[in-house]
Amino acid sequence: MMKHAKTLSLLAAVFIVVVSGFSRTNAQTPIKLYVFDGGILESDPTRYRLTKEDVGTTQLSVAAYLIVHPKGVLLWDTGAVPDENWKPTGSPVVHKLVLPDGQGRQVTIRTPLKAQLSASGYSPAQVTHLALSHHHWDHTANANAFARATWLVRQSERDAMFADKLAGTVTPMTYSALKTSKTVVVTADEHDVFGDGTVILKSAPGHTPGHQVLYVKLAKTGGVVLSGDLYHYPQERTMNRLPTFEFNEEQTRAARKSVEEFLTRTKSQLWIQHDFNAHAKLKKAPENYQ
Ligand SMILES: [Zn+2]
Repeated sequence: MMKHAKTLSLLAAVFIVVVSGFSRTNAQTPIKLYVFDGGILESDPTRYRLTKEDVGTTQLSVAAYLIVHPKGVLLWDTGAVPDENWKPTGSPVVHKLVLPDGQGRQVTIRTPLKAQLSASGYSPAQVTHLALSHHHWDHTANANAFARATWLVRQSERDAMFADKLAGTVTPMTYSALKTSKTVVVTADEHDVFGDGTVILKSAPGHTPGHQVLYVKLAKTGGVVLSGDLYHYPQERTMNRLPTFEFNEEQTRAARKSVEEFLTRTKSQLWIQHDFNAHAKLKKAPENYQ
């Protein structure tokens, strides 16, 4: 009898462990947001209708982000310098490039994108979804490495990317492989990527035809909106200035208004991807936000 009772209590203990284990896996696994550092971009504030005095810091940051959700792994933007085009030394490397329109650019970079991805515990093959804020060169550099992921793109942006005549600030060789990627053409103003309201692509056209921003709802950090190039310098937001090279300035104005309303409605912070000082303060991968 004693033995039987012991067996029963043991069974009950096992049952409790199994049940608690079950509820643990069933409970929402926290969403993680990793910030990747894509280097420092030398820039000229007059391209944004700002002066050196207005901005203080003329340099811009380059960023990419990995969102790990129970239903998939989404990479948002892919940096300014293709990993295969430079060799890391452990110290910052100055990388100069010439855009198709002849303009020179300089990016100082320290760690390849795929090395930051790997340090976070992921290989390119484990990235299930790719979304770009837009197709300018400083966001597409490593896109080809993620051509096996499902690509989330607006039709107008995809059309611009594979048009016969391209914008001068575009490096099509860096994203050419996306042409045959499994593609989801996003049509909704707010596209719910994983169906639970935590990761939303929001339309914000104007900088390019199908420019978008990304909302991520994190359990501890709260809502975060990744800006794409809706703004570059934070003074564009505070001083209401537009870049000189928008695809459509009216659309940008409307998109900014819509995103500001979204930020209020969702009580979110805006992370301006190119804001050097704000980006410098963020935890970088493999540390992450939850
Ligand atoms: Zn940019």
